[in-house]
Amino acid sequence: MTRPRFNRILLKLSGEVLMGQGQFGIDPETVARVAQEIADVAKDHELCLVVGGGNIFRGLAAAAKGFERTSADYMGMLATVMNALAVQNALEQIGVDTRVQSAIPMNTVCEPFIRRRAERHMEKGRIVIFAAGTGNPYFTTDSAAALRAAEMNCDALFKGTSVDGVYDADPKKVPGAKRYDSVTFSKVLSDDLKVMDASAVALCRDNNIPIVVFNIRERGNLARVLAGDGVATIVQN
Ligand code: UDP
Repeated sequence: MTRPRFNRILLKLSGEVLMGQGQFGIDPETVARVAQEIADVAKDHELCLVVGGGNIFRGLAAAAKGFERTSADYMGMLATVMNALAVQNALEQIGVDTRVQSAIPMNTVCEPFIRRRAERHMEKGRIVIFAAGTGNPYFTTDSAAALRAAEMNCDALFKGTSVDGVYDADPKKVPGAKRYDSVTFSKVLSDDLKVMDASAVALCRDNNIPIVVFNIRERGNLARVLAGDGVATIVQN
């Protein structure tokens, strides 16, 4: 099945993508590889990024072990800033112009999130990396990705993860689980399919922003999927 080509996209990178073969943290080699893939497609597309923080800290997991939830979530948001700086660093080392904008202002580290300024950066060909999620506890970077994709008028939200799309059951647990080429937002929500959290899916549905789920760990896949081929699932109305 061929998918439409999109011009302006928001790429969501989950934190686990940045840890390579490790179980935790940031693997510089992996970040450099992902940065190169992003640089390759940035020539033909307008790109902005939202990075997760799960490779460093997850609020919900910490709360389950006794942390107070809102503090834990702020720690998770700070983790996303570290990842954003790592990705920025790797992109700038290969000559790609970037800006990091944080939903939690920290002016000596990066710019605060200002939508109109982000728009201007993108018009000038810079890649804007959105950090600190939505800036609010009880949310995830999936919701931040949906929100920023809507704010920045993106044609699609690309979710780069370690599976090659959306399945009708967990492919790691259920042999013969079927991958969808295309699936509707309503089916994702009614069947509770694992794509992004429900609030992120609902925001994309309401604003008619397709979600493309693909495996970013596979070399060259981002370019292939953006070109309309390559293995992925598109979630749309
Ligand atoms: N987080 C938050 N509000 C947001 C985005 C993120 O509180 O708007 C916190 C939350 O604790 C989450 C952590 O930051 O667990 C890391 O983000 P996420 O789990 O979405 O990262 P990913 O799974 O994409 O690596």
